[in-house]
Amino acid sequence: MKLYYDFHIHTALSPCADNSMTPNNIVNMALLNELDAIAITDHNTAENVEAVMEVAKEKDIIVIPGMEIETKEEIHILGLFLDLESVYNVQNKVYSMLPTIKNKSNIFGSQLILDKNDNIVKELDRILLTATTLSLNQVVDLIKNNNGIAIPAHIDRPSYSILSNLGIIPPDLGTLTLEISRFSKLDKYRKKYNNYIIVQSSDAHELGYIGITKNELEVESKSIQSIFKSLQ
Ligand SMILES: [Zn+2]
Ligand SMILES: [Zn+2]
Repeated sequence: MKLYYDFHIHTALSPCADNSMTPNNIVNMALLNELDAIAITDHNTAENVEAVMEVAKEKDIIVIPGMEIETKEEIHILGLFLDLESVYNVQNKVYSMLPTIKNKSNIFGSQLILDKNDNIVKELDRILLTATTLSLNQVVDLIKNNNGIAIPAHIDRPSYSILSNLGIIPPDLGTLTLEISRFSKLDKYRKKYNNYIIVQSSDAHELGYIGITKNELEVESKSIQSIFKSLQ
């Protein structure tokens, strides 16, 4: 069967994302756009994933726990995980490898931790929008060692991407999946990187972008396990 996905969505916890990116707004917008599966991928954190999953519990949509980790080379890598426990393990490690500088919310934007009713639980004080001290290989290993799939993010973009920063996809990277942004054509990248599985997601920071790419993934059944099987 086919399912419609968007595996790269930020919540109001990412300082650069709109404060309207709340658990209920995200799930409802995804349903409105007839998506079957979404992933929540905030910058270097997963503290809003659980609330989005709780909202989705009663609804016909899969929410994959995820995170967008910035390596010390300033490359963005998406981690998609099988369960919350795994994403929290990774979050602990990422937090320990992030500088403990305070976020300047007036400059970078606020970092809101929300509950399943979209109430603000607290504002995260530490800065998220910065590089960890983990290398590219360390980030890929960290994700893979925690039931995750590592996906170099928006490889077609001129900044914070593996191609812009390294010029190539290292052959020993240990991942089979690559992501392109909403600005490029899937066909072109599938031809060019035909040894890889190429996915395309919205990287939504505002509600209007959720599901804008609306691509299909062939899966055995509508489950996280099947999605993971199709992505690696
Ligand atoms: Zn990014
Ligand atoms: Zn992103």
